[in-house]
Amino acid sequence: MKIKFKNKKALVRVDFNVPLDASYKITDDTRIREALPTIRQILDEGGSAILMSHMGRPLQKLKEDGTINREKFTLKHLVSHLRRKLKTRVHFADDCVGKTATKKAAALKPGEVLLLENTRFYPEEEKGDAAFAQKLAALGDVYVNDAFGTAHRAHASTTIVANYFDSAHKCFGLLMEREIENANRVMKNPEKPVTCIVGGAKVSDKIVLLERFLHFADNIIIGGAMAYTFMLAKKGTVGNSLVEAEKVKAAKDFLKNAKAAGVKVLLPRDSVCGDKFAADAAVQVFPSNQIPDGWMGLDIGPSAAKTYGRTIRQSKTIIWNGPMGVFEMPAFAEGTKYVARSVARATTKGAFSMVGGGDSVAAVSQLKLAKKVSFVSTGGGAMLEYLEGKELPGIKAM
Ligand code: AMP
Repeated sequence: MKIKFKNKKALVRVDFNVPLDASYKITDDTRIREALPTIRQILDEGGSAILMSHMGRPLQKLKEDGTINREKFTLKHLVSHLRRKLKTRVHFADDCVGKTATKKAAALKPGEVLLLENTRFYPEEEKGDAAFAQKLAALGDVYVNDAFGTAHRAHASTTIVANYFDSAHKCFGLLMEREIENANRVMKNPEKPVTCIVGGAKVSDKIVLLERFLHFADNIIIGGAMAYTFMLAKKGTVGNSLVEAEKVKAAKDFLKNAKAAGVKVLLPRDSVCGDKFAADAAVQVFPSNQIPDGWMGLDIGPSAAKTYGRTIRQSKTIIWNGPMGVFEMPAFAEGTKYVARSVARATTKGAFSMVGGGDSVAAVSQLKLAKKVSFVSTGGGAMLEYLEGKELPGIKAM
């Protein structure tokens, strides 16, 4: 981080949108742990940190009487956990703007932390309201954005607030720096050969990404339900597989563009099919372009997995977004597992691998392979948009 924090009050946008159980205990503190290095650096340098975050969607989940469920969505639930982790004084302001927040921010001493109440208690947050952002900005001397996961939203605390700090008084946090650095590493001057693996449910969700990958990939591997829309584009029959008939043309165009760009597109030669979308379905392997009626492709087949694995293991840069099949059901998880292991193997041999943007992260953690790839992005939708080449408002504002 380029700012020297000594005696500065740093207003830090973190992503503390953590899951809580029915008694408001944190069930997964990954997001908090990931923000700690940035907070610690600020405190260690002799600054103080004013933390702001959203949690859940309080305005969309109002109580029956139409009021905000403050008890459920308050960030106060996180205070004791933060104290334990940071081993310092953590104050709490039960409003993210206004008198209390202002007073507590003013009284904050170097080495101390102030956690502000859920920014989404105000509709102004999601609207990106300027006056509200200005009130938030007034609390700190400098602004640090460490919430990559919300960088694709032009909300008050993620984007608009940055307009009230000049470039010497705002910077990315360590987590955000790392996400941007890794995404740039795979997109700008990556070591070749570059293989992009794209899976998941829908062509419509991933077509922008696929087209983008044509700019720098040598190989594009396609799996998941998406593959069956591609099979239709190649005049195959796919039985009851999940397809998007209206995306067949987009799939055809993509294949044409890939050919023109000299990018190799790998589609699954065979598929593990089920007679219904269920964990206890009858299972049979068919060629992916000859799936009979009454059967649906739910995973890439063993032959496809082998071909994909070979290409992956020969790659020097790998980006992976989306599972190869319905990995949540054991009968249809083998393709995703094989690909995950191949990515891990390539990484051991020196490739740079990044997994990110949605469900593939869940697949990699479910398979306990997160430590065997170079980088797992926690950015979700934000990473997807960044890889698609979109300018994220939260980054632009910095
Ligand atoms: P996405 O969020 O687009 O990455 O999609 C992930 C979801 O796609 C997962 O929940 C998978 O179960 C689902 N999926 C993957 N392959 C298939 C398939 N062949 N048929 C139906 N759903 C699939």
